Amino acid sequence: MSYGPLIDNLIDSLQVLPGVGRKTAQRMAMHLLERDRSGAQRLASHLDESAQKIKRCRCCQNLTEFETCVVCGDKRRDQSILCIVESPSDLQAIEQSGHYRGYYFVLMGHLSPLDGLGPEEIGLPKLLERVDAGLFSEVILATNATVEGEATAHYIVELLRDRDLEITRLAQGLPTGGELGYADFGTLNHAFTGRKKLDL
Ligand SMILES: [Zn+2]
Repeated sequence: MSYGPLIDNLIDSLQVLPGVGRKTAQRMAMHLLERDRSGAQRLASHLDESAQKIKRCRCCQNLTEFETCVVCGDKRRDQSILCIVESPSDLQAIEQSGHYRGYYFVLMGHLSPLDGLGPEEIGLPKLLERVDAGLFSEVILATNATVEGEATAHYIVELLRDRDLEITRLAQGLPTGGELGYADFGTLNHAFTGRKKLDL
């Protein structure tokens, strides 16, 4: 059934959210229109402003409204370790687990040639710049324990092989095929403390 173009468009737009199908989108739209007009306006203006102003940190590719993100801007962190993750939400998960105090590099996903995602697209040239500009002695590969995450980690090992760096991989214990963002804090901390040095 159609509610008219405006409401229909709203329902369609809400379905860009992950896990939101037509029914849920309808419920959300009705809630906003029936009960929370000011909430709806706040949401609309924050979405609009964020979509326009949020960009990638020029050091690590994390999401930020500034030139460099808050993590890169924090000079009290451990300058010797760089942790490579697949996404800003993986970075958040590691930050919330509270154990790691080094810096990050956020890939734009993982290598996936079939989807047109090669080394350039996920920012590997930028990763090399970051590594060479820093004082890192260790690089932690914290890509997901999925087939694509492992392949990406392997590619990065080859890329960094000739540099004077210790390269480590998070310990097993993370669910195989699982994504970092879904691991609990204990598991994540355990994966960090038990990280393994890779033989180059
Ligand atoms: Zn940054």
